[in-house]
Amino acid sequence: MQTELRVFNTLSRKKEKFESISKDHVGMYVCGPTVYSDVHLGNVRTFLSFDIVYRYLIHLGYKVRYVRNITDVGHLVNDADEGEDKIAKKAKLDNLEPMEVVQKYTNGFHDVLKQFNLIPPSIEPSATGHIVEQIEMVKELIQKGFAYEVNGSVYFDVNKYDKDHNYGKLSGRILEELMASERALDAQDEKRNKVDFAIWKKASEEHIMRWPSPWGEGFPGWHLECTVMSTKYLGEQFDIHGGGMDLKFPHHECEIAQSVGAYGKEPAKYWLHTNMLTVNGQKMSKSLNNSFLPHELFSGSHALLDQPYSPMTVRFFILQSHYSSTLDFSNEALGAAKKGYKKLINGLRIVKELKYTTDGAEINDKQVTEINKIIDNCSNAMNDDFNTAKTIAQLFNLLKKINSIYVGQLKFDEIGEALFAKMKTTFIEFIEKVLGLEEEKVSNQDKLLQTLIFLYKQAKFKKDYGKVDEIRASLKENGIILKDMKDKVDWAYEE
Ligand code: AMP
Ligand code: ZN
Repeated sequence: MQTELRVFNTLSRKKEKFESISKDHVGMYVCGPTVYSDVHLGNVRTFLSFDIVYRYLIHLGYKVRYVRNITDVGHLVNDADEGEDKIAKKAKLDNLEPMEVVQKYTNGFHDVLKQFNLIPPSIEPSATGHIVEQIEMVKELIQKGFAYEVNGSVYFDVNKYDKDHNYGKLSGRILEELMASERALDAQDEKRNKVDFAIWKKASEEHIMRWPSPWGEGFPGWHLECTVMSTKYLGEQFDIHGGGMDLKFPHHECEIAQSVGAYGKEPAKYWLHTNMLTVNGQKMSKSLNNSFLPHELFSGSHALLDQPYSPMTVRFFILQSHYSSTLDFSNEALGAAKKGYKKLINGLRIVKELKYTTDGAEINDKQVTEINKIIDNCSNAMNDDFNTAKTIAQLFNLLKKINSIYVGQLKFDEIGEALFAKMKTTFIEFIEKVLGLEEEKVSNQDKLLQTLIFLYKQAKFKKDYGKVDEIRASLKENGIILKDMKDKVDWAYEE
């Protein structure tokens, strides 16, 4: 029985009881996208996993401040300190202003997440909107002796930090091994050590994204923005820090070092990392050319897809696995998810319509115990580190009971009015609020109208004027009028 929320903390590598730092207020920070390209389904899996965390904490009654940033500067092409800025590179390639690239892909990111029914975060700060704060933090780290300036760039001194702290504690890296394995790159000559990372970079002449600073014109390092923005909006210590597993190192490891260096505190109490969406066992990634864009899934236009899949089918598919397991894409799994989703949504429609009616049956203790147990298990499953896969299995168990009532096999009075109401609320609340699954209405208006027009013409032919008036009136109620033309029947929106 998992009656309280437990989360797997990737820092301690243990499942821990969740206790928020402030009694009823939770601070959660999730690393957002680097907005230089369309988000693929792998990215969606990660953001969707944190949407579940957010939704469930709200369901438990917490007030949550959820901060998810937009990386719009500082993330370099090779994810380390070398190469072009991803946004600047794309801007040059497409002959756009860097901020045009940022806006375009930020809009796309929002559209995609909306289609998958993700709740927007409470604050969505961007790195370029926090340059002043980042410069302040660089100053602070220099002053505390954890960073040094060389030729207009400022680096974090990992070796110095590691003397009193443990650099590598999150990712399990050992500094000596890292130092031995790091590739020697040209510009690393100016670093004291190969493992040091840039918190401020001098902008070369051709670099277009640049700001004045005490060290000359430059731009912030990628890892710095998250430390600065999480601290600004959630404080020096907050509850949950999340992101995909591939961000553990170096990004999150560096965030810990920056926070401990500047404030003497680790930033987050619980670190949550999502596992990867894979295709034939390989991580889905733009650079590996195995990624689908959401619109390709909805249209079925990608070569690897057998058919189109709707946003809710895909949401269901993702939720059918626990966020910490890998999830492999396959048409079979998506096909099964399509069926599963429809089954659950049909249940939702039934349960919303079902009204308790006394039928004089005796109370059935066995049924009462079973239903109560399933209801408890829905919470237990979510309390077990947000296990959506187990939760869905429990919802299907509840659906069996709902269907029994629907077909009259199980009588209302066998379970009683209070339990019926509890069952109904649990089913609706878990599907809609906790899992964020919603009914996708069929929107083939034209086809449905043609069917009605056909029935209208038939009724006219048979001189069934009662039916003719009925069809007209019912369509009018929905803002549509039928027009009897010389050789056909047409329709128009009522003006
Ligand atoms: P990016 O914009 O590349 O920094 O990625 C945004 C988020 O998506 C990060 O948290 C990544 O860890 C995550 N991510 C990238 N690829 C995948 C994948 N194949 N499966 C799950 N999450 C991913
Ligand atoms: Zn981050």
